[in-house]
Amino acid sequence: LTPVPSDIEISRAQSPKAVDVLAKEIGLLTDEIEIYGQTKAKVRLSLLERLKDQPDGKYVLVAGITPTPLGEGKSTVTIGLVQALTAHLNINSFACLRQPSQGPTFGVKGGAAGGGYAQVIPMEEFNLHLTGDIHAITAANNLLAAAIDARILHENTQSDKALYSRLVPVVNGVRVFSAIQLARLRRLGINKTDPGTLTEEEISKFVRLDIDPSTITWQRVVDTNDRFLRKITVGQANTEKGFVRQAQFDIAVASEIMAILALTTSLQDMKERLGKMVVANDKKGEPVTAEDLGVTGALTVLMKDAIKPTLMQTLEGTPVFVHAGPFANIAHGNSSVLADKIALKLVGEKGFVVTEAGFGADIGMEKFFNIKCRTSGLVPSVVVLVATVRALKMHGGGPNVTAGAPLKKEYTEENLQLVADGCCNLQKQIQITQLFGVPVVVALNVFKTDSPAEVDLVCEIAKQSGAFDAVPCNHWSAGGRGAVKLAQAVEKAANQKNTFKYLYSLELPIVEKIRIIAQKVYGAQDIELSPTAQSQVDQYTRQGFGNLPILMYEPVLELDSSTLWLER
Ligand code: ADP
Repeated sequence: LTPVPSDIEISRAQSPKAVDVLAKEIGLLTDEIEIYGQTKAKVRLSLLERLKDQPDGKYVLVAGITPTPLGEGKSTVTIGLVQALTAHLNINSFACLRQPSQGPTFGVKGGAAGGGYAQVIPMEEFNLHLTGDIHAITAANNLLAAAIDARILHENTQSDKALYSRLVPVVNGVRVFSAIQLARLRRLGINKTDPGTLTEEEISKFVRLDIDPSTITWQRVVDTNDRFLRKITVGQANTEKGFVRQAQFDIAVASEIMAILALTTSLQDMKERLGKMVVANDKKGEPVTAEDLGVTGALTVLMKDAIKPTLMQTLEGTPVFVHAGPFANIAHGNSSVLADKIALKLVGEKGFVVTEAGFGADIGMEKFFNIKCRTSGLVPSVVVLVATVRALKMHGGGPNVTAGAPLKKEYTEENLQLVADGCCNLQKQIQITQLFGVPVVVALNVFKTDSPAEVDLVCEIAKQSGAFDAVPCNHWSAGGRGAVKLAQAVEKAANQKNTFKYLYSLELPIVEKIRIIAQKVYGAQDIELSPTAQSQVDQYTRQGFGNLPILMYEPVLELDSSTLWLER
């Protein structure tokens, strides 16, 4: 329709097919899905075993130029592209998206189901609650937070003997160690399995984690921008006997458990990752983990359904997985490895799986390659880099934009100079993609205010800057039909030579890895560590965490008086 109706009007005007019909269409067996209402189903991980010999499809990442308040439309391009591939070119495809957090959904940014005629439907189901994964993360996260404070209280108010009776359960009249406790005993060098044989000294070593409260990094979480919980005091009831400390609430999607959900490859792997989470140091400076607190099993069981991706559909009835949603500013900003792996099997060798990285290519894509692909072992075939004329104009020096105010004429009238000036951002993002050896196609998401000369200019500069192709897309106003040229360009690019590589080796020292990212991706001349950063690097290295990938952190921007998260 012209003019294009609002996102919600479009979403509500389309009746989605029943999710069991969709599941059947894409080759899922009845016992491989768990249906939630009419339009959502969780998919069981047993599918991966059934399809293990099936070759993977092509893996496409949608990334963007540096975001501006004007929005670039990465999710919209992701959906438009799969609609074009499946519904118009008859090529199997899947979109794999992040589950949005309530923070941005009810903030200025809004939901994340795409927009115009390129959306996941029903929009409300997608944006709110979904199948409860974020709630499960909140429950698991806060259980661990409660366990930390309870442990400090008990260790400081009870004798070794009393703690021992509390920690080692009596089963059928006999005191027995759990598997987790046996593992802890082994770590402590106590090779005993009978609780009755521990010496007093061994009991004391066993029952005391000796957490240093000033080093606790594990916070409580809630999936709301509740700014008054940013700094709180816990333990004020008399029953907590003065064990008062300052703490804070984070947003649930910033939780390490969300990052784990996004990176895990199986239930067993998730359990191991949950157990290894470090929550504080002990008084000797050694890390204390969830496993030390004895809650690994509880955390895993709380997450047993969240680990399954949720199946939904686009406006044109093509399949979508929604799974995990770590923010790109403080976490790695990509949807789950498991959803991508399952989708790559389901589309078959000639099919495409399109997923999206949060923020600009410098932040989200760098972490997609160096963290997510390294964990999954998956090799991306193509990067689609989303740009808009309006955002490029802002990068070229266009005026700031005030939420709710009408756009200034620089953004509504042709201005080739501003576009040309802003293309330096696009060029840099293309260069960053090339560092990883993956072909890049620029998708220019066309707005109705863009002039043909502005569109041509961007595509021309993109190609001169090394993009394999650059294509204007009209999926927002025309659905999949408007992204057919993009789909064809992606298909061609996927057959190009691909020399994918990570930016750094894990064996390098932490500082060296940071330097490589800062210099190659962010254009820094060099880095300098503050004394605090240096002591943290020293601590992580000493504790044996020196060989992990680096997660670059972008502080949350606050633009108005209500807490505003710019990224889901
Ligand atoms: P991102 O993933 O980059 O954050 P989205 O795809 O979620 O951006 O799009 C943000 C908003 O911009 C959505 O409400 C969408 O409807 C709108 N939008 C995207 N592309 C266009 C377009 N070409 N014309 C008008 N509005 C658009």
